[in-house]
Amino acid sequence: MPDGRSAACVADAIRAAAVRLEATSDTARLDAEVLMAHALGVSRSDLLLRHMRSEAPAGYPALVDRRAAHEPVAYITGQQEFFGLPFMVTPEVLIPRGDSEVLVETALKARPGARSVLDCGTGSGALLLAVLANLPQARGTGIDSSPGALAVAASNARTLGLDERARMMAADWHRAGWSETLGGPFDLILANPPYVENDAELDTSVCEYEPAGALFSGPDGLDDYRILVPQLPALMAPGGLALVEIGHRQAEAVSAIGQAAGMAATIHHDLANRPRVIAFS
Ligand code: GLN
Repeated sequence: MPDGRSAACVADAIRAAAVRLEATSDTARLDAEVLMAHALGVSRSDLLLRHMRSEAPAGYPALVDRRAAHEPVAYITGQQEFFGLPFMVTPEVLIPRGDSEVLVETALKARPGARSVLDCGTGSGALLLAVLANLPQARGTGIDSSPGALAVAASNARTLGLDERARMMAADWHRAGWSETLGGPFDLILANPPYVENDAELDTSVCEYEPAGALFSGPDGLDDYRILVPQLPALMAPGGLALVEIGHRQAEAVSAIGQAAGMAATIHHDLANRPRVIAFS
């Protein structure tokens, strides 16, 4: 090969990429493997078992360059796994985080018989679709103010075979009357609203690539909770439950907003044992 780059075998190319990505990523080796699997169109386990001695594909260096410029792996591959399910992601949606899986687990444990589910700010649809995939009797509505996000969510519903039970609708809780056409009340409400302080210093891979509208919510990150949370009681069926994701320092403030609206609040923790979800009932 004239430039010497693509003549390397897969194993050598991954090793070199992992070294290069050390400066950008805490998971450099994993990133290098995931990008290689994507370039070859194989799963990561197939890559490791069967392809390490093949010739590295010509397209690989360009993918590594994108990651070295801090672009998240999920936007490069167009995919992120969440709750064991494959989700398509684009820069129009927040990349589903492992931390949010606790919200899905809590929903499944607390309301296994739920028949109607609302997901406020559905983005890729990850929360709603992970819940519906595990509650065969339930139907759900995902709302978002971003048309680009709704297209991604609808595509994920189709791919996962859930489009008969999940509908995605444009709605914005900042606008009066936003919830009138949703067809509530709901047994289960999920929400991962924007909750980052406007002037927070985020990783480059987050602040330069992920949608600002899904992240930032005023000087203290609480603006969306102040608008959305007091409206939850009117959307909840009798005995219903609302699960709201929070930043780990927001448990008290968000509990207080819900309590002022007449709801009881219970805090649930993520895998790192930080407060991550408030359950309102
Ligand atoms: N967990 C995300 C982050 O820290 C924020 C998600 C959100 O604002 N809903 O980047």
